[in-house]
Amino acid sequence: MAHAPHAPSAPRWRGLFCNRTLNLRSVKAIGYDMDYTLIHYKVEEWERRAFETSRDKLVAEGLPLADAVFDPNDVIRGLILDRDLGNVVKTNRFGYIKAASHGTRPLDFDSLRKTYSRTIVDLADPRWIFLNTLFSLSEASLYLQLVDRKDAEAPAAPVDYRALYDRVRRAIDLSHMEGALKAEIMADPDRFVELDPELPLTLLDQRHSGKKLALITNSEWGYTRSMMTYAFDRYLPPGKTWRDLFDLVIVGARKPDFFSGRQPVFEVADPDTGTLQPLISGFKLGGCYFGGHAELVERLFNVDGADILYVGDHVYTDVKISKDVRRWRTALVLRELEAEIQAADSAHAAQEALGTLMEQKTELENQLSQIRLAVQRRKGGYTDPTPASVRELESDFARIRQRAVELDERIAPLAKAATEVLNPRWGLLMRAGNDKSHMARHVERHADIYTSRVSNFLYATPFVYLRSLRGSLPHDP
Ligand code: IMP
Ligand code: MG
Repeated sequence: MAHAPHAPSAPRWRGLFCNRTLNLRSVKAIGYDMDYTLIHYKVEEWERRAFETSRDKLVAEGLPLADAVFDPNDVIRGLILDRDLGNVVKTNRFGYIKAASHGTRPLDFDSLRKTYSRTIVDLADPRWIFLNTLFSLSEASLYLQLVDRKDAEAPAAPVDYRALYDRVRRAIDLSHMEGALKAEIMADPDRFVELDPELPLTLLDQRHSGKKLALITNSEWGYTRSMMTYAFDRYLPPGKTWRDLFDLVIVGARKPDFFSGRQPVFEVADPDTGTLQPLISGFKLGGCYFGGHAELVERLFNVDGADILYVGDHVYTDVKISKDVRRWRTALVLRELEAEIQAADSAHAAQEALGTLMEQKTELENQLSQIRLAVQRRKGGYTDPTPASVRELESDFARIRQRAVELDERIAPLAKAATEVLNPRWGLLMRAGNDKSHMARHVERHADIYTSRVSNFLYATPFVYLRSLRGSLPHDP
């Protein structure tokens, strides 16, 4: 043991969290998404420019959005837009709505109940739009602000909130696809990209351990090359570039269709101009392609779904579909986890205090129920009565009831604070009240593992055996 190197330890929020056991040593190939996975953007900067570019298009079409400003606190990932009502909602894992706002205005408890007491969110219904990625934040913020402004324009007139959403969606879509926004980012990456100096070594370790690495991104070649060069080359040995990290590069992948369809594939023939040429045979090691599909990757690396891990940030595109259709192993990157875990850790003492008070409350409620039953039996005369008189029982009841009321007064502020950790309006990404959130449900269903950033693999090594925890059940001791 004298020569065993010290394991560098990562803080808890940089851990790899496991839903389904994954032995990384036996994984033969790893595919990486680029945007918000290998390349992390400064969300306020990137999404603000996406918001502004799209806002300007809608203003030019006559929509009342002049001076609207992106507010990163309007929404968090994992919330769900309600296109019918111009709302955004947070649900628990069963789809019950626990919090909502109309436009950017939060619904109070009564309006929430009136609007949604009979509603269970089913994402198969196009009424609902799940906020899958950090790219969704600008879109949702723009939609909710447009709802506010349309309502204010003519308060009595009905508003077609669905049509409004469709216009926002189109504007955001165009902003991503037209060159201007991406050109701005490529021209000033310092402003938009958050560098991670540990990332290149993470991939070098994996590649030298014998795994095949692929970059599979929906971004175009020019943008991909620019971002990857900026974020990786500075940390690599002289003469090496980001291309040396990958056995295969696929741009313009059109995920999720990449996992489910059989799209045509082109070769990026000239890296400087991005010129494409049709490809007759399959992928080759070291190649760089546009389009194609997942089966070509499996063939090139000679792997099946159980041997390949795909790492991405988009809940639907990157992990749900790659698992549902191809049974690839999946890792979801959730940068928000770092702040969430730290916030939850610092709220831990309050959470414990809340737990203790809730136990006391349960005990008092139990005593009250016993007294109620004793009174009922005494009055009903259908079984042997307790020795206490009704009057004595009622006096006990009043005394205990008073203690329960006092306890409630101590519980209420703690319970409220627990739902406001980190984001006063929406709370934590993975929790809804005391339960798991819809987001948490998606993560556990589709992502075998999840983590805040790719370089967390550095600490775990390419040989880590990740075991899932024993799932908890309500009847556990
Ligand atoms: P990936 O995450 O590396 O697969 O790449 C995501 C790419 O999709 C980036 O180039 C984004 O600009 C682009 N993108 C994100 N949202 C949209 C959209 O709504 N419409 C079109 N492109 C998008
Ligand atoms: Mg991505």
